[in-house]
Amino acid sequence: NEVLLTVKNLKKYYEISQGMFKEKIVVRAVDDVNFTVMRGETFALVGESGCGKSTTGRTILRLVEPTAGEVVFKGTNLASLPYEQMRSLRKQMQMVFQDPYASLNPKKTILQILMEPLKVHNKFDKKERLRKIIAMLKIVGLSEYHLDRYPHEFSGGQRQRIGIARAVILQPDFIIADEPVSALDVSVQSQVINLMLELQKEFGLTYLFISHDLSVIQHMTDRVAVMYLGKIVEVADTEDLFRNPKHPYTQALLSAVPVAHPKEEKKRIILKGDVPSPANPPSGCAFHPRCPFALEICKTKMPEPTTFEKGHTANCHLYIKNEEEIEYVTSYS
Ligand code: SF4
Ligand code: MG
Repeated sequence: NEVLLTVKNLKKYYEISQGMFKEKIVVRAVDDVNFTVMRGETFALVGESGCGKSTTGRTILRLVEPTAGEVVFKGTNLASLPYEQMRSLRKQMQMVFQDPYASLNPKKTILQILMEPLKVHNKFDKKERLRKIIAMLKIVGLSEYHLDRYPHEFSGGQRQRIGIARAVILQPDFIIADEPVSALDVSVQSQVINLMLELQKEFGLTYLFISHDLSVIQHMTDRVAVMYLGKIVEVADTEDLFRNPKHPYTQALLSAVPVAHPKEEKKRIILKGDVPSPANPPSGCAFHPRCPFALEICKTKMPEPTTFEKGHTANCHLYIKNEEEIEYVTSYS
Protein backbone atom coordinates (compact mmCIF):
# COMPACT_ATOMS: atom_id res chain seq x y z
CA ASN A 1 0.00 0.00 0.00
CA GLU A 2 1.58 3.16 -1.25
CA VAL A 3 0.86 6.63 0.10
CA LEU A 4 -0.01 8.99 -2.74
CA LEU A 5 -0.89 12.14 -0.81
CA THR A 6 -0.24 13.36 2.71
CA VAL A 7 -1.88 16.50 4.03
CA LYS A 8 -0.17 17.83 7.14
CA ASN A 9 -1.34 20.64 9.41
CA LEU A 10 -3.04 22.29 6.46
CA LYS A 11 -4.55 25.71 7.17
CA LYS A 12 -6.42 28.20 5.10
CA TYR A 13 -7.25 31.38 6.97
CA TYR A 14 -8.56 34.50 5.39
CA GLU A 15 -9.58 37.92 6.62
CA ILE A 16 -12.98 39.45 6.17
CA SER A 17 -14.24 42.89 7.18
CA GLN A 18 -17.41 42.87 9.16
CA GLY A 19 -19.88 45.31 10.68
CA MET A 20 -20.14 49.06 10.82
CA PHE A 21 -16.47 49.61 11.64
CA LYS A 22 -15.20 47.13 9.05
CA GLU A 23 -13.65 45.14 11.80
CA LYS A 24 -11.18 42.59 10.50
CA ILE A 25 -11.99 39.00 11.40
CA VAL A 26 -9.99 35.88 10.62
CA VAL A 27 -12.00 33.03 9.14
CA ARG A 28 -10.44 29.63 9.72
CA ALA A 29 -11.86 27.81 6.72
CA VAL A 30 -9.37 24.96 7.01
CA ASP A 31 -7.88 24.64 10.47
CA ASP A 32 -5.06 22.15 10.94
CA VAL A 33 -6.26 19.34 8.71
CA ASN A 34 -4.32 16.05 8.51
CA PHE A 35 -4.97 12.96 6.39
CA THR A 36 -3.33 10.47 4.06
CA VAL A 37 -4.63 9.12 0.76
CA MET A 38 -3.39 5.73 -0.48
CA ARG A 39 -2.86 5.02 -4.17
CA GLY A 40 -5.94 3.59 -5.83
CA GLU A 41 -8.42 4.37 -3.07
CA THR A 42 -11.37 6.73 -2.90
CA PHE A 43 -11.01 8.93 0.13
CA ALA A 44 -14.00 11.06 1.09
CA LEU A 45 -14.28 14.40 2.81
CA VAL A 46 -17.79 14.75 4.17
CA GLY A 47 -19.53 17.48 6.11
CA GLU A 48 -22.18 20.16 5.88
CA SER A 49 -21.69 23.14 3.59
CA GLY A 50 -19.15 25.58 4.98
CA CYS A 51 -17.18 22.93 6.89
CA GLY A 52 -14.10 23.55 4.74
CA LYS A 53 -14.11 20.43 2.59
CA SER A 54 -14.12 22.27 -0.77
CA THR A 55 -11.48 24.70 0.44
CA THR A 56 -9.35 21.76 1.53
CA GLY A 57 -9.62 20.28 -1.98
CA ARG A 58 -8.81 23.55 -3.68
CA THR A 59 -5.90 24.22 -1.36
CA ILE A 60 -4.37 20.83 -2.21
CA LEU A 61 -4.32 21.79 -5.90
CA ARG A 62 -3.33 25.35 -5.01
CA LEU A 63 -6.35 26.79 -6.71
CA VAL A 64 -6.26 28.71 -3.44
CA GLU A 65 -2.98 29.27 -1.61
CA PRO A 66 -2.62 27.54 1.75
CA THR A 67 -1.90 29.71 4.80
CA ALA A 68 0.27 26.99 6.35
CA GLY A 69 0.96 23.29 6.23
CA GLU A 70 2.21 20.67 3.81
CA VAL A 71 0.66 18.85 0.88
CA VAL A 72 3.02 16.03 -0.02
CA PHE A 73 2.18 14.40 -3.36
CA LYS A 74 4.45 11.52 -4.41
CA GLY A 75 7.13 12.83 -2.09
CA THR A 76 6.99 16.49 -3.20
CA ASN A 77 5.60 19.23 -0.99
CA LEU A 78 3.24 21.12 -3.28
CA ALA A 79 2.48 23.82 -0.74
CA SER A 80 5.90 25.43 -1.19
CA LEU A 81 6.59 24.52 -4.82
CA PRO A 82 7.45 27.29 -7.32
CA TYR A 83 4.65 27.87 -9.81
CA GLU A 84 6.43 26.36 -12.83
CA GLN A 85 7.11 23.05 -11.11
CA MET A 86 3.60 23.05 -9.74
CA ARG A 87 2.30 23.36 -13.26
CA SER A 88 4.07 20.25 -14.49
CA LEU A 89 2.83 18.25 -11.50
CA ARG A 90 -0.68 19.56 -12.02
CA LYS A 91 -1.24 17.33 -15.02
CA GLN A 92 -1.07 14.39 -12.61
CA MET A 93 -3.77 15.99 -10.45
CA GLN A 94 -7.08 17.06 -11.91
CA MET A 95 -10.36 18.36 -10.61
CA VAL A 96 -13.98 17.56 -11.39
CA PHE A 97 -16.35 20.31 -10.33
CA GLN A 98 -19.88 20.30 -8.95
CA ASP A 99 -21.51 22.31 -11.67
CA PRO A 100 -20.54 20.87 -15.05
CA TYR A 101 -22.21 23.75 -16.84
CA ALA A 102 -20.34 26.51 -15.06
CA SER A 103 -17.05 24.67 -15.43
CA LEU A 104 -17.32 24.18 -19.21
CA ASN A 105 -16.76 27.25 -21.38
CA PRO A 106 -20.08 27.78 -23.22
CA LYS A 107 -18.34 29.33 -26.23
CA LYS A 108 -16.15 26.32 -26.88
CA THR A 109 -16.97 23.09 -28.65
CA ILE A 110 -16.40 19.75 -26.98
CA LEU A 111 -13.38 19.28 -29.23
CA GLN A 112 -11.88 22.58 -28.04
CA ILE A 113 -12.69 21.83 -24.42
CA LEU A 114 -10.96 18.45 -24.52
CA MET A 115 -8.08 19.73 -26.65
CA GLU A 116 -7.16 22.44 -24.18
CA PRO A 117 -5.48 20.33 -21.48
CA LEU A 118 -3.53 18.41 -24.13
CA LYS A 119 -2.28 21.69 -25.59
CA VAL A 120 -1.50 23.32 -22.25
CA HIS A 121 0.61 20.35 -21.21
CA ASN A 122 1.98 19.86 -24.72
CA LYS A 123 0.94 16.22 -24.91
CA PHE A 124 0.97 14.27 -28.20
CA ASP A 125 0.98 15.52 -31.81
CA LYS A 126 -2.11 16.80 -33.57
CA LYS A 127 -3.31 13.49 -34.98
CA GLU A 128 -2.72 11.64 -31.74
CA ARG A 129 -4.63 14.31 -29.82
CA LEU A 130 -7.72 13.86 -31.93
CA ARG A 131 -7.48 10.11 -31.62
CA LYS A 132 -7.20 10.43 -27.80
CA ILE A 133 -10.15 12.79 -27.61
CA ILE A 134 -12.42 10.49 -29.61
CA ALA A 135 -11.33 7.47 -27.58
CA MET A 136 -11.99 9.40 -24.36
CA LEU A 137 -15.45 10.49 -25.51
CA LYS A 138 -16.35 6.86 -26.19
CA ILE A 139 -15.09 5.80 -22.78
CA VAL A 140 -17.39 8.31 -21.06
CA GLY A 141 -20.38 7.27 -23.20
CA LEU A 142 -20.33 9.99 -25.88
CA SER A 143 -19.02 9.83 -29.45
CA GLU A 144 -17.16 11.69 -32.18
CA TYR A 145 -20.50 13.05 -33.41
CA HIS A 146 -20.44 15.27 -30.35
CA LEU A 147 -17.12 16.94 -31.15
CA ASP A 148 -18.55 20.07 -32.74
CA ARG A 149 -21.36 20.56 -30.27
CA TYR A 150 -21.45 23.12 -27.46
CA PRO A 151 -22.04 22.44 -23.75
CA HIS A 152 -25.61 23.81 -23.79
CA GLU A 153 -26.60 21.07 -26.24
CA PHE A 154 -26.05 18.41 -23.60
CA SER A 155 -27.96 17.25 -20.54
CA GLY A 156 -26.51 17.75 -17.06
CA GLY A 157 -25.31 14.16 -16.89
CA GLN A 158 -23.65 14.39 -20.31
CA ARG A 159 -21.98 17.65 -19.32
CA GLN A 160 -20.53 16.00 -16.26
CA ARG A 161 -19.28 13.15 -18.48
CA ILE A 162 -17.49 15.81 -20.54
CA GLY A 163 -16.05 17.35 -17.36
CA ILE A 164 -14.81 13.92 -16.32
CA ALA A 165 -13.34 13.26 -19.78
CA ARG A 166 -11.46 16.55 -19.55
CA ALA A 167 -10.04 15.55 -16.17
CA VAL A 168 -9.04 12.03 -17.21
CA ILE A 169 -7.64 12.75 -20.68
CA LEU A 170 -4.21 13.68 -19.32
CA GLN A 171 -4.10 10.32 -17.54
CA PRO A 172 -3.64 11.81 -14.09
CA ASP A 173 -2.99 9.72 -10.97
CA PHE A 174 -5.20 11.74 -8.73
CA ILE A 175 -8.59 13.40 -9.16
CA ILE A 176 -10.34 15.67 -6.72
CA ALA A 177 -14.07 15.49 -7.33
CA ASP A 178 -15.99 18.24 -5.51
CA GLU A 179 -19.66 17.26 -5.24
CA PRO A 180 -19.51 15.78 -8.77
CA VAL A 181 -23.08 14.48 -8.77
CA SER A 182 -24.88 16.91 -6.42
CA ALA A 183 -26.24 19.03 -9.26
CA LEU A 184 -27.61 16.01 -11.14
CA ASP A 185 -30.97 14.24 -10.98
CA VAL A 186 -30.89 11.26 -8.65
CA SER A 187 -31.54 8.92 -11.59
CA VAL A 188 -28.43 10.23 -13.35
CA GLN A 189 -26.23 10.30 -10.25
CA SER A 190 -25.62 6.57 -10.11
CA GLN A 191 -24.67 6.46 -13.81
CA VAL A 192 -22.02 9.12 -13.29
CA ILE A 193 -20.78 7.41 -10.11
CA ASN A 194 -20.52 4.09 -11.94
CA LEU A 195 -18.60 5.79 -14.73
CA MET A 196 -16.17 7.21 -12.17
CA LEU A 197 -15.71 3.76 -10.62
CA GLU A 198 -15.06 2.19 -14.04
CA LEU A 199 -12.51 4.87 -14.90
CA GLN A 200 -10.84 4.31 -11.56
CA LYS A 201 -10.32 0.64 -12.39
CA GLU A 202 -9.29 1.24 -15.96
CA PHE A 203 -6.79 4.04 -15.29
CA GLY A 204 -5.74 3.25 -11.73
CA LEU A 205 -7.10 6.56 -10.46
CA THR A 206 -7.06 7.75 -6.88
CA TYR A 207 -9.98 9.94 -5.86
CA LEU A 208 -10.47 12.56 -3.22
CA PHE A 209 -14.25 12.64 -3.19
CA ILE A 210 -15.86 15.67 -1.59
CA SER A 211 -19.55 15.42 -0.76
CA HIS A 212 -22.24 16.23 1.76
CA ASP A 213 -24.29 13.26 0.56
CA LEU A 214 -23.80 10.27 2.84
CA SER A 215 -25.61 7.79 0.58
CA VAL A 216 -23.20 8.62 -2.23
CA ILE A 217 -20.25 8.41 0.15
CA GLN A 218 -21.37 5.01 1.39
CA HIS A 219 -21.70 3.65 -2.13
CA MET A 220 -18.61 5.17 -3.63
CA THR A 221 -15.75 5.49 -1.14
CA ASP A 222 -13.22 3.36 0.76
CA ARG A 223 -12.40 5.71 3.61
CA VAL A 224 -14.00 8.83 5.02
CA ALA A 225 -12.91 11.91 6.94
CA VAL A 226 -15.73 13.84 8.60
CA MET A 227 -15.22 17.60 8.82
CA TYR A 228 -16.81 20.12 11.13
CA LEU A 229 -15.91 23.83 11.20
CA GLY A 230 -12.62 23.46 9.36
CA LYS A 231 -11.39 20.41 11.25
CA ILE A 232 -11.47 16.68 10.75
CA VAL A 233 -13.33 15.09 13.67
CA GLU A 234 -13.35 11.43 12.59
CA VAL A 235 -11.58 9.19 10.04
CA ALA A 236 -12.47 5.57 9.29
CA ASP A 237 -12.98 2.91 6.65
CA THR A 238 -16.34 3.72 5.10
CA GLU A 239 -17.88 0.48 6.34
CA ASP A 240 -16.66 1.02 9.90
CA LEU A 241 -17.84 4.61 9.93
CA PHE A 242 -21.35 3.66 8.90
CA ARG A 243 -21.51 0.66 11.20
CA ASN A 244 -19.90 2.19 14.22
CA PRO A 245 -19.56 5.99 14.18
CA LYS A 246 -17.66 7.24 17.22
CA HIS A 247 -17.93 11.02 17.12
CA PRO A 248 -21.27 12.47 18.27
CA TYR A 249 -21.33 14.73 15.21
CA THR A 250 -20.88 11.75 12.87
CA GLN A 251 -23.56 9.86 14.77
CA ALA A 252 -25.97 12.74 14.24
CA LEU A 253 -25.11 13.05 10.53
CA LEU A 254 -25.60 9.33 9.97
CA SER A 255 -28.86 9.25 11.86
CA ALA A 256 -30.35 11.38 9.08
CA VAL A 257 -29.53 8.86 6.33
CA PRO A 258 -32.51 6.73 5.38
CA VAL A 259 -31.88 3.03 6.07
CA ALA A 260 -32.31 0.32 3.45
CA HIS A 261 -34.10 -2.03 5.83
CA PRO A 262 -36.89 -0.35 7.75
CA LYS A 263 -36.56 -2.96 10.51
CA GLU A 264 -33.27 -1.38 11.46
CA GLU A 265 -35.05 1.94 11.90
CA LYS A 266 -32.86 4.21 13.93
CA LYS A 267 -33.57 7.29 15.90
CA ARG A 268 -32.98 10.56 14.14
CA ILE A 269 -30.71 12.78 16.20
CA ILE A 270 -31.67 16.42 15.88
CA LEU A 271 -28.84 18.76 16.79
CA LYS A 272 -29.52 22.00 18.60
CA GLY A 273 -28.84 25.22 16.75
CA ASP A 274 -27.04 25.87 13.48
CA VAL A 275 -23.42 25.36 12.52
CA PRO A 276 -21.57 28.31 14.11
CA SER A 277 -19.57 30.68 11.91
CA PRO A 278 -15.98 29.67 11.18
CA ALA A 279 -15.19 33.35 11.80
CA ASN A 280 -15.89 32.82 15.46
CA PRO A 281 -15.73 29.12 16.27
CA PRO A 282 -16.62 27.95 19.80
CA SER A 283 -13.73 27.28 22.18
CA GLY A 284 -12.52 23.80 23.07
CA CYS A 285 -14.33 21.20 21.00
CA ALA A 286 -16.07 23.42 18.42
CA PHE A 287 -19.02 21.02 18.44
CA HIS A 288 -19.72 21.50 22.17
CA PRO A 289 -22.66 23.95 21.94
CA ARG A 290 -24.57 21.39 19.88
CA CYS A 291 -23.29 18.15 21.34
CA PRO A 292 -25.79 16.12 23.41
CA PHE A 293 -22.90 14.58 25.40
CA ALA A 294 -20.78 17.67 26.05
CA LEU A 295 -18.73 17.55 29.22
CA GLU A 296 -17.26 20.46 31.18
CA ILE A 297 -13.82 19.85 29.64
CA CYS A 298 -15.26 20.12 26.12
CA LYS A 299 -15.80 23.87 26.54
CA THR A 300 -12.14 24.60 27.10
CA LYS A 301 -9.97 21.79 25.75
CA MET A 302 -9.66 20.73 22.14
CA PRO A 303 -9.86 16.92 21.99
CA GLU A 304 -6.90 14.95 20.61
CA PRO A 305 -7.59 12.01 18.31
CA THR A 306 -8.24 8.62 19.90
CA THR A 307 -7.38 5.60 17.74
CA PHE A 308 -9.68 2.59 17.53
CA GLU A 309 -9.33 -0.53 15.36
CA LYS A 310 -8.06 -0.31 11.75
CA GLY A 311 -6.92 3.30 11.88
CA HIS A 312 -10.35 4.55 12.91
CA THR A 313 -9.83 7.82 14.80
CA ALA A 314 -12.17 10.29 16.46
CA ASN A 315 -11.45 13.58 18.21
CA CYS A 316 -13.70 13.49 21.23
CA HIS A 317 -13.20 13.70 24.99
CA LEU A 318 -15.66 10.87 25.57
CA TYR A 319 -12.93 8.43 24.66
CA ILE A 320 -10.13 9.92 26.66
CA LYS A 321 -9.78 8.44 30.11
CA ASN A 322 -8.88 10.85 32.87
CA GLU A 323 -8.65 10.79 36.62
CA GLU A 324 -12.17 12.01 37.10
CA GLU A 325 -13.41 8.84 35.38
CA ILE A 326 -15.71 10.32 32.83
CA GLU A 327 -18.79 8.28 32.25
CA TYR A 328 -18.54 6.80 28.76
CA VAL A 329 -21.41 7.44 26.45
CA THR A 330 -20.58 6.14 23.01
CA SER A 331 -23.84 5.31 21.38
CA TYR A 332 -27.32 6.69 21.09
CA SER A 333 -29.08 3.33 21.21
FE1 SF4 B 1 -19.17 16.29 22.30
FE2 SF4 B 1 -17.19 16.83 23.98
FE3 SF4 B 1 -16.93 14.90 22.19
FE4 SF4 B 1 -16.93 17.46 21.44
S1 SF4 B 1 -15.41 16.44 22.70
S2 SF4 B 1 -18.01 15.81 20.48
S3 SF4 B 1 -18.43 18.32 22.86
S4 SF4 B 1 -18.37 14.96 23.90
MG1 MG C 1 -18.49 23.04 -1.33
